[in-house]
Amino acid sequence: LVSRDFHPEDTIVDVAGVRVGQGCRPVVVAGPCAVESEEQIVRTALFVKKAGADMLRGGAFKPRTGPHTFQGLREEGLELLALAGRESGLPVVTEVMSPDSVGLVADYADLLQVGARNMQNFDLLRELGRIRKPVLLKRGMSATVEEFLAAAEYILAEGNEQVILCERGIRTFETATRNTLDLAVAPLIRELSHLPVMIDPSHATGKRSLVPPMTLAALVAGAHGVLVEVHPEPEKALSDGPQSLTFQGFERLMADVRRMTDFL
Ligand code: PEP
Ligand code: MN
Repeated sequence: LVSRDFHPEDTIVDVAGVRVGQGCRPVVVAGPCAVESEEQIVRTALFVKKAGADMLRGGAFKPRTGPHTFQGLREEGLELLALAGRESGLPVVTEVMSPDSVGLVADYADLLQVGARNMQNFDLLRELGRIRKPVLLKRGMSATVEEFLAAAEYILAEGNEQVILCERGIRTFETATRNTLDLAVAPLIRELSHLPVMIDPSHATGKRSLVPPMTLAALVAGAHGVLVEVHPEPEKALSDGPQSLTFQGFERLMADVRRMTDFL
C-alpha cells in the first residue's frame, strides 16, 4: 500500500488545511521539544507563526531515555498546545506514545506523531490506522528504509492513508553528532513511495549550529517539509536545549528557507 508500484500518484496529506507533499510548498514545523508552560508555548507559537512557520510542534507525552527526567505535561500539555494553536492559527503536532492515548491525543492534535522509539509499536500503528487524522511517522533509530516503510504499511493497512514519513537521523558509529542524518532517504522514499517525506534536522544533529545548514540541505534533497525545534530560552529548556534554535536563529533560518524555496 505504501509502494509507488501499486499507487503511482503522489499522496498529499492535509493537516487542518496545510497541504504536505509533492507539488506543495515545503512546510516548516517549528516549536519546542516539550510543552513546558502556557507562556512558553504561546510565546513560541506566536513567534514562529510571525516568522513564517506552517505548523506548531510540542511534546506533551515525552519518551525520555531515563524515568527521572521531565516526562511532559501530558493532558495539560495537550490543552496548552491546542490553546497555542488557536492563538496563533497554526495546526499542532504532538507525539502519541501508546495505543490507549490515541483517542485523547487525537482530540487535541491536528497531526499525531509516532516517535522514533515507537516506530515498530505495532499496536500503536494499528490504532492510528483506525483514526481519521494524519500521522507523522518517524524513522526508528536503527531501522532500515524497508522496515520504515513496512511500519507505515501497518497504518495504511487499517485504512488511514494520511501518513507523512520523517527521517530524524539514525544510529551509527559516529558520536560527534547525536545521530547521523541520512539525507538520501528523502529522494529514495520519493522513488519508492507515494507518501510525503519530511526531515528533522534537530534530532538528527543534536546541535543548534548544524540545524540551519541541514534544514537547507533537506529542502535541496527534496524533503516535503522540515521539523525544527525552537525554544524561547534554550539554555533553560527541560529537554533538547542544545539543539533548539533561539527565536533569532529561527528568524534567520526562515529568511534562508524562503530564498531557498523561491529558487527550488
Ligand atoms: C521529538 O520529536 O521530540 C522526538 C522525541 O523525536 P524522536 O522520536 O525522533 O527522537
Ligand atoms: Mn526533542
